[in-house]
Amino acid sequence: MISHSYDELLKSKHRLSMLLFFFLNSASALFAMLNPTLKSLKTTFPLAMIGVFCVIGFLLTYFNRKNGRSYLNSCSIIVGALWAWHISLRFEQIGHADNSFLLVSLLSVFFISAIALSDNFLAFCLHAAPSSVAVIFLDDFNHTGKILFTIALPLIGLSLHHFMLRRSDDFTRRMVANLYSEREKFSDLSMLDPLTGLYNRRGLENKLETLLSQAQASHYVMLLDIDHFKAYNDNYGHSMGDQALVRVSAAIRDAVRSRDVVVRYGGEEFLVLMSNVNQEYAIRMADRIQHQVLSLNIPHHFNTQVSTNVTVSAGLSALVDGEFSAALSAADRSLYLAKNSGRNKIFYAWDQPQAKPELPIAQ
Ligand code: GH3
Ligand code: MG
Ligand code: MG
Repeated sequence: MISHSYDELLKSKHRLSMLLFFFLNSASALFAMLNPTLKSLKTTFPLAMIGVFCVIGFLLTYFNRKNGRSYLNSCSIIVGALWAWHISLRFEQIGHADNSFLLVSLLSVFFISAIALSDNFLAFCLHAAPSSVAVIFLDDFNHTGKILFTIALPLIGLSLHHFMLRRSDDFTRRMVANLYSEREKFSDLSMLDPLTGLYNRRGLENKLETLLSQAQASHYVMLLDIDHFKAYNDNYGHSMGDQALVRVSAAIRDAVRSRDVVVRYGGEEFLVLMSNVNQEYAIRMADRIQHQVLSLNIPHHFNTQVSTNVTVSAGLSALVDGEFSAALSAADRSLYLAKNSGRNKIFYAWDQPQAKPELPIAQ
């Protein structure tokens, strides 16, 4: 997103460059046509072409904001060649009398290139090269050294400027990419529970968005709660409680497939979202989780009447028609029944009378 807007920024800078290029060239052509110091024929065919071409180019660029294609290089060589043609014709017309004409013409072409094309080295060269070559030839190589010097100076300056711009551009790009990846990392971290490394509720919401967009898929929701965990904390201490939570989380994570979403839903409560599975598989997974937690053999002598190890109770329900909150309520009701019937048990929502769909009343 950020890099996208950075590209947009570069594109708009490029568009401005094109507008400036067309504007300066058409203004310069107009000035050359209306120049009051010239009494002879003021315009030439290529000069008129530059004027028309650049006015059209300006209007097209101005009104066409969507098309991101760049014609700057091709326009530069076309206008550059027209300027060279114009300089040659005009030089013939004024009878080679005005020595300063060639230099002034060359400088004005360079002026436009330097102002409008300073960010585009290739376009700069394409625009200025035809006039430079034409001027050297028209001058019969009399002042080649001076002319080359006039050309070389802005070229060196521009190359340095271009080199620095490239570096700062690359740096900005790298920084934008870093910022972007850092942002992704923080966004990922904000979806994880720091103690267990499982998803938190935010992570669940994020996963649900993708999952529920899959039509016709069969998913299951399981809620798990550690039995008598308050007693565990009270007797073994909060830090041992934390360790037990981490080990139980890992056991749940290991029991299911990597594509299943395991969430720390509350303090000692977990939610497992199994995607694209049938009922038989969901039941098998619930049994497996319960068994794996028990076989962690975390001593819990205050898990009264259940076991001497840490255990979990679970409620399992089907996620029908993308109705996650209905599935969650059904799993919660089943969990409640599992707790009430002695703990370390799994209850299935479809076995409970209140979970059965109500039949429509016959009219
Ligand atoms: P039940 O079998 O009915 O679920 O009883 P319980 O004691 O597990 O349930 P209760 O809701 O009464 O207590 C939950 C306990 O979980 C209370 C709290 O001390 C503990 N707990 C919640 N979050 C954390 C945690 O991050 N670390 C630790 N160590 N304990 C936690
Ligand atoms: Mg509990
Ligand atoms: Mg609880």
